[in-house]
Amino acid sequence: MQRTKIKDLLTGAEAGNQVLLKGWVRTKRGNKFVNFIAVNDGSTIHNLQVVAEADKFSEETLKDVTTGAAVVVTGELVASQGKGQAFEIQAANIEVVGKADPETYPLQKKAHSLEYLREIAHLRFRTNTFGAVFRVRNTLAFAVHKFFNERGFVYMHTPIITASDAEGAGETFQVTNFDLDNMPRTEDGKINFAEDFFGKATNLTVSGQLEGELAAMAFSDIYTFGPTFRAENSNTARHLAEFWMIEPEMAFHDLKMNADLAEAFIKYIIRYALENNRDDIEFLGQRLVEEDKAKPQNERQEMTLIEKLELVVNNDFERVTYTEAIEILLNSSHYKKKKFQYDVSWGIDLQSEHERYLVEKHFKKPVIVTDYPKDIKAFYMRLNDDGKTVAAMDILAPGIGEIVGGSQREERLDLLVERMKAVGIHEEDLWWYLDTRRFGGCPHAGFGLGFERMVQFVTGMGNIRDVIPFPRTPKNAEF
Ligand code: ATP
Ligand code: MN
Repeated sequence: MQRTKIKDLLTGAEAGNQVLLKGWVRTKRGNKFVNFIAVNDGSTIHNLQVVAEADKFSEETLKDVTTGAAVVVTGELVASQGKGQAFEIQAANIEVVGKADPETYPLQKKAHSLEYLREIAHLRFRTNTFGAVFRVRNTLAFAVHKFFNERGFVYMHTPIITASDAEGAGETFQVTNFDLDNMPRTEDGKINFAEDFFGKATNLTVSGQLEGELAAMAFSDIYTFGPTFRAENSNTARHLAEFWMIEPEMAFHDLKMNADLAEAFIKYIIRYALENNRDDIEFLGQRLVEEDKAKPQNERQEMTLIEKLELVVNNDFERVTYTEAIEILLNSSHYKKKKFQYDVSWGIDLQSEHERYLVEKHFKKPVIVTDYPKDIKAFYMRLNDDGKTVAAMDILAPGIGEIVGGSQREERLDLLVERMKAVGIHEEDLWWYLDTRRFGGCPHAGFGLGFERMVQFVTGMGNIRDVIPFPRTPKNAEF
């Protein structure tokens, strides 16, 4: 007999079918005549209940059926008498293929805190919450490829080891194979990277954009989807040292087309998850409702998770310029009552409290903020005619803040070089990048979407550490 996954068992179920079930025991309850064993195999949030009549099985076998054990069950699918499920398996045979000692197994029936589960991240996949989160993550990743593939974008793998720091923020992890206790030095005592593996100082990439731009100048539309590294020592609920980023880059696109694509993209992948992982998202939404019960009334969510996602999918994103956003903040009663921790004036980098005010209090939906002051944005963003702002766009989402950062790129060689000089980037280091402006350059644009922030948004998980299987954060690289 062939194994059937629970998801398929439940969709194509017919009473009377003989089935072969393989999975892990979530719970066992019962009495001396009958045991009810909830089994999950990861294909869905739903368990399948196995009914084991005590007289059909040895005491030995039933004793080993404990939370966490791996089991193989054969039996007949029957309509369930109990509530909560339509079908259950009347077990004919149960084999415990992997025991889990109940004395030492770290996951108990009771709900554990997310913090505790982070410490046992190797086992947390086996909980309802993380099962749901990572199935949604998988669906979103698939939807990313589907969206771009349907639109003729070419998937590019940009390098993970690079010699450039695209953002110029200097928050990079160095890559070397030097013996750190014995580093080659130049005559003036500096570390001699000419002798290092790549013959120059290298680091883990902070973005695939610069290389993505090169490819866009041949394929028109490309995207990257890969790991990205930032050694920012910010212990926030929205930052990881290792995260995944999606970076499309489109030749012959301006800022408006860029924003339109980003909006369509975000809606598409959310809609795809709502259609394909409804049960998981409903479960995660219920989790938030439970979590809210412990909070004071004014801190509770106004909408359920599903309502929030449907609002995003079914409505146009708001679009404002940075200058308008500053006006809104300055005119807000929040500002007048001095409720912002950071001051507001034209030229500031919007703080997360400002972003959240705009999204959650003022517009109550995702907002695309465009045309930021050039001094707070990267060198490659296209200078606007006012000479003060650049064709940048950030997309801000409720509960998360910045989820997308993008821009129209500076395609004019002279202006680009001038900007690089101003921020201290050497032309020689980026000669290959500048070549795209020398040979067949064209207006182009792109953006970066932090994948984990997207997964946070769709799952409603408050901490980014809970939406990547094994988070890398300051002082933490376990597993
Ligand atoms: P933030 O201001 O939130 O630190 P950023 O301006 O550094 O973001 P970008 O350089 O524009 O972000 O990167 C593009 C996207 O990557 C961001 O919109 C965000 O979704 C995501 N991102 C940036 N840094 C991190 C991080 N440390 N961990 C997870 N995602 C991140
Ligand atoms: Mn940052």
